[in-house]
Amino acid sequence: MTPSCPAVLSDRSPCREPLVKLNSGSPAGQTAIKKVCLSELQRGVLSVSAAVMASSPAVLMRLVASAYTVAEKAGTIVRKVLQSGELGIVEKTGANDLQTLADRLVQKSICASLSKSFPKVTIIGEEELPAEDAEEELLENGHSSLILQKSCPDQYASLKEEELVVWVDPLDGTKEYTEGLLDHVTVLIGIAYGGTAIAGVINQPFYNYQMGAGASLGRTLWGVLGLGAFGFQLQEVPDGKRIVTTTRSHSNKLVIDAVQAMEPHDVIRVGGAGNKIIQLVEGKASAYVFASPGCKKWDTCAPEAILHAVGGKLTDMHGNAYRYDANVKHMNSAGVLATLRNHEYYLSRVPQVVLQALPSD
Ligand code: AMP
Ligand code: MG
Ligand code: MG
Repeated sequence: MTPSCPAVLSDRSPCREPLVKLNSGSPAGQTAIKKVCLSELQRGVLSVSAAVMASSPAVLMRLVASAYTVAEKAGTIVRKVLQSGELGIVEKTGANDLQTLADRLVQKSICASLSKSFPKVTIIGEEELPAEDAEEELLENGHSSLILQKSCPDQYASLKEEELVVWVDPLDGTKEYTEGLLDHVTVLIGIAYGGTAIAGVINQPFYNYQMGAGASLGRTLWGVLGLGAFGFQLQEVPDGKRIVTTTRSHSNKLVIDAVQAMEPHDVIRVGGAGNKIIQLVEGKASAYVFASPGCKKWDTCAPEAILHAVGGKLTDMHGNAYRYDANVKHMNSAGVLATLRNHEYYLSRVPQVVLQALPSD
C-alpha cells in the first residue's frame, strides 16, 4: 500500500494526542518522542499503519463479505452438478435424508475457502466428509466490496476471528433438489457469536428459473443484526391473514396438529428451512411451523440471523431461543417456529401435546 501522508497530517492524526498525554510530565521526553513520531511520519511508516487501523473493515464484515462470494460460487456448483445429470445421491439416515454430489462439493468449497481466509474461525458443516484437501477449483478467495463498504454495528466491531462460529448447510432442501423442485434449494452460511446467530448469507441458486431462458439465475440474500438484511424486498403478508409454511417431506402428526392449531387461512408445504424464511421476509407466509425434531443448527443459523435483522423471530415451539455455540447439540429438538410479526399469537396457539412431546433443551 502506498503511504498516505495527507491522512496522517490531518487533525485526526492518531500520532499527536496520545504522545502528548503519555509524556505530559516530561517536556523533554515529549519533545524527543515527538521527533521520533515526525521522522516516522516522514518515512511513511506510521501513516500506513494509522491508515490501515482507521479504515480496515471489522472481521465480521470481512467474513460476511467473503461468505457472500463463497455462497455465490456454491450456487454455481449446485447448478453445474444438476446440469451434469449425475447427482451422486446417497441416503444418510434414510430415504428422506439425502446427500448429493452437490452437498459434498459445496461443503468442501465453503469450508476450505473460509478457513483459508479465516483460519481461527470455527466452521461446522452438515456433511460428514473424509478429511482431504479441497481441489484448487473449489476455492474462492473473493469478497463482496459492497458489503465491505458497510459499517459494522458497534457491538460487533471488535470481534475476533476465534470468537466466531460459522454454521454451513451446503445445500438445504436436498430432497427437493433431487425431485426438481429447484426454487426450494438454498445454500446457508450462518455466523454466530456468543451463542447468537448474528449474521447470515443465503444463496438461492435457482431463483428465477421459472422465468425462462433469458432470466438471470440465482440470488444472494444477507444480513447482520443491527445493520439490516439485503438482496430482497422486505414484504409482509396482508394484515390479519395467516399463511403457514411448513415441511413437505418431513411431516408427522405433531407437525399437522401444530399447523392446524394456528387456524391458518392457507398452508404452503415446501422444502428447505432457508426457503421458508425467504417466504416470511418476502410476504408469502406469516409463520414457519415445524413441530418436530429434524432441523439442525446449520438449517436455522443463517435464516434466523436474516429474519432477526429485519425484526422477525425464530424460536423453538416453546418460544425459547436456540443457541449456536460451537459445542451445542446439532438437532433443534423442540421444533421451529418463525415469524416476521405476531410471534406471540402463533406461540399462544401451540397445542399442549406438542409442548409435551418436544421439551426445550
Ligand atoms: P424441510 O422443511 O422438511 O425441508 O426441513 C428443513 C431442513 O430440516 C432440511 O434441511 C431437512 O433436511 C431438515 N430436516 C427436517 N426434518 C428432518 C428429518 N426428519 N430428517 C432429516 N432432516 C430433516
Ligand atoms: Mg438443511
Ligand atoms: Mg443440507
